[in-house]
Amino acid sequence: MRIGLFGGTFNPIHIGHLRAALEVQEGFHLDRFYIIPAAIPPHKTLYGIANPRDRFEMVRLAVSNNPDFIVSDVELKRSGPSYTIDTVRFFESTLTKGTSLNLVLGLDAFLQMETWKSYMDLFLLIPFIVMARPGAAGSESKKKLKIIGNYLQSNISEGYKFNPSQNCFVHEKMKPVYVFDVSLLDISSTKIRNLIKQGRSIKFLVPEKVENYIKTKGLYL
Ligand code: ATP
Ligand code: MG
Repeated sequence: MRIGLFGGTFNPIHIGHLRAALEVQEGFHLDRFYIIPAAIPPHKTLYGIANPRDRFEMVRLAVSNNPDFIVSDVELKRSGPSYTIDTVRFFESTLTKGTSLNLVLGLDAFLQMETWKSYMDLFLLIPFIVMARPGAAGSESKKKLKIIGNYLQSNISEGYKFNPSQNCFVHEKMKPVYVFDVSLLDISSTKIRNLIKQGRSIKFLVPEKVENYIKTKGLYL
């Protein structure tokens, strides 16, 4: 069984997240894809962030018709900042034989890895699948590989080498870092929150159930 772990603030979840997640799931033949909303995102100010239960609920609604996608409340159940290392260790501890984990994240998030708690341990523990989107540095393919390669060499380990046949960076001791192109949907949660503040529609940027939830709860006004 192959598992994908996709964390984020999801404030709110949008079709950019969902489409990218689906393409990664298909591309890597992942049997299960966990979407994991952070309770307390370590890298963001809490100002303007909907409460964790609402963000969780919106992810739940967004994936409710897709049985391969599961919303996880592991980070909601923990106190303190939501560190990915703790989440990965949790999933590791529940694994049965023959099950493998992959950490899925966007290029923008990946390029800040050196600011994450115990990031070196993450590279020792779990393969990364890095997705790109427009607006992110180097969304163009070759440039993107160069940026990721440079980043790995200068911030993580010089031992990372590119393996073209797998489109991935490999290392003798550390886990591989796969680079994966996803549909370039120029959508962000920030954009959605701004539209709501301006009284404009967010239709077709988030699933309909999420749109209705935001309206009913009066989020992001
Ligand atoms: P915000 O604008 O508030 O930062 P966001 O849209 O970037 O929100 P996050 O919750 O910060 O969403 O991101 C969670 C993960 O999803 C990150 O790894 C990010 O790189 C990725 N991601 C966000 N938007 C997209 C998109 N349109 N396509 C692919 N990946 C995305
Ligand atoms: Mg973001």
